[in-house]
Amino acid sequence: MNVDDVITGKSAEMKIDCPVCGGKNTATYTTQTHELAYFGEIVESTIQCEKCGFRHNDILATEQKDPAKHSLIISKKNLDSRVVRSQSATVSLPDIGIKVEPGPKSEGYISNVEGVIVRFVEATERALNMFQDDLSQENGKRVLENLNKVLNGEMETLLLIEDPFGQSKIMDVRAKTEPLTDNELKNLKTGFTVIEE
Ligand SMILES: [Zn+2]
Repeated sequence: MNVDDVITGKSAEMKIDCPVCGGKNTATYTTQTHELAYFGEIVESTIQCEKCGFRHNDILATEQKDPAKHSLIISKKNLDSRVVRSQSATVSLPDIGIKVEPGPKSEGYISNVEGVIVRFVEATERALNMFQDDLSQENGKRVLENLNKVLNGEMETLLLIEDPFGQSKIMDVRAKTEPLTDNELKNLKTGFTVIEE
């Protein structure tokens, strides 16, 4: 069963000066409210500049939440389960050895499990283009192979989302939510394979 009922609510749009190129009223700032079952209200905002092409997505839960760790064993049954990733969350597939940590260009998004893996595939492909040494190429290709197996439902793997502000969520009945310990909170932002967004 999926619990991905999103009731799409109010949306609003306004013209603003672009934070990147400084264009006068060249950027459109859009907000869209979503009501997510068992989570509450989320405001998704997008800035898009028609002059320089800058685009940025953010999400914000309107309720105060506690630091939390969400986990799910990904299988072909739950590739379409909804995922809310805030810009402050660290997303990892620890068994495959890949992790995305929040950086200055981090984006919040509402997607599904498949969409999260696709983002990992894209990040790995970018890393393969950037780092030409043998070790990086070997690691990157192994990660890519495993990500494709997960996408094809041939492999199960653990998905972890750790959010110090508790604004993320995996909308699946099999997903587990636990509080983040002080130690885990301290250690967020360090680790193994790091690909910055
Ligand atoms: Zn611009």
